[in-house]
Amino acid sequence: MENQYFVDSDKLSEAALEKKHRLENDPSSRTDHMEYMEGMEHIKSDIMDKVLSEMNSFDYSRYTAVDVNRALNHEVCSVEDFKALLSPAAAPFLEKMAARARLETQKHFGNTVYLFTPLYIANYCENYCVYCGFNCYNDIRRMKLSMEQIEHEMKVISESGMEEILILTGESRSKSGIEYIGEACRLARKYFRMVGIEVYPVNTDEYRYLHECGADYVTVFQETYDSTRYEQLHLMGHKRVFPYRFEAQERALMGGMRGIACSALLGLSDFRRDALASALHVYYLQRKYPQAEISLSCPRLRPIINNEAINPLDVHEKELCQVLCAYRIFLPFCGITVSSRESESFRNGIVKIAATKISAGVSTGIGDHESKYTGKESSSAEGDEQFEINDSRSLTAMYRDMSAEGLQPVLNDYLYV
Ligand code: SF4
Repeated sequence: MENQYFVDSDKLSEAALEKKHRLENDPSSRTDHMEYMEGMEHIKSDIMDKVLSEMNSFDYSRYTAVDVNRALNHEVCSVEDFKALLSPAAAPFLEKMAARARLETQKHFGNTVYLFTPLYIANYCENYCVYCGFNCYNDIRRMKLSMEQIEHEMKVISESGMEEILILTGESRSKSGIEYIGEACRLARKYFRMVGIEVYPVNTDEYRYLHECGADYVTVFQETYDSTRYEQLHLMGHKRVFPYRFEAQERALMGGMRGIACSALLGLSDFRRDALASALHVYYLQRKYPQAEISLSCPRLRPIINNEAINPLDVHEKELCQVLCAYRIFLPFCGITVSSRESESFRNGIVKIAATKISAGVSTGIGDHESKYTGKESSSAEGDEQFEINDSRSLTAMYRDMSAEGLQPVLNDYLYV
């Protein structure tokens, strides 16, 4: 296995260091990543099998220009057409794909672009995902905001005009329990009209509780749908259990959430297969839960603290653009979010073609919105960031830039009745 992601730390105890090295180098020291752990709910669903079987048989080298042309001429894009659009044979057709994607986006979303901001409230994590700055073996400043600090951060953000917030934590049940997240959602409901969460996957009854606390939608990234690669990258903790994570969106919808988001972290494995699996995950969920608002994200790897060398490998902006156009043509009414991992110029361009949602005023650190939004020194201590962002525009700057691109920025379109 490539060890480009591993970071060394002289701050770990000898026992911790030994365990870390064993996990990295001896696969037999790791738990079975396909076995549910105690307490994990097991739902009856065939979606994972369907997605994995399509992905595993996807041979993108067999598609040709004829297949791509045929796909672009079809009014409705089939799974087979989508595979052709993801293949290397589609690269010379990028302009045509962008024109078609733009048409589909305009048909279903007009010229709107939704704005939101993430708020990290804790960075403790019990998992060892080797590519992530929050992983339990990375030596960073950890912290968890108190309810008072969370409210303060929310106030600062809402005073900027933002109406939608995404609450994030690292994945630590012991440090950021369900009640802690639930209370944060209750507070968020006071200041925002849309509340999303991106936290560790939980059981259906816990999603129901979080929904009652005010959460509207749930984002869970599968990171990679390649189970073998997943096993090599998620060495310890609850996140190691591949099927439990895969079924999180279904449990969230069963628990009453209005919407969910799926994604792979492009660059971790073969990005064409991961893109196929991400979109099929959405496709089958749309058919099973037609009432749900379902969206896709498209994050790529970014450098982290103590490992600046991490990068998205062969997924350059051109490849990312191809993936996003293919998503739009295959799933015309699916929301697509592009995060601040991407550059300002890429985001300005892609919102006119395929993306419908974009973050602004982003910080992936803990407790630093006050300093970033107002320029004042933060009143709470700050915890380190999960990864480096690429586009740091404020809400005001983003609103101005989106308007200048001829788009209509939308802060919220939902009314509670
Ligand atoms: S990706 Fe999530 S679960 Fe994994 S180490 Fe980072 S914060 Fe923890």
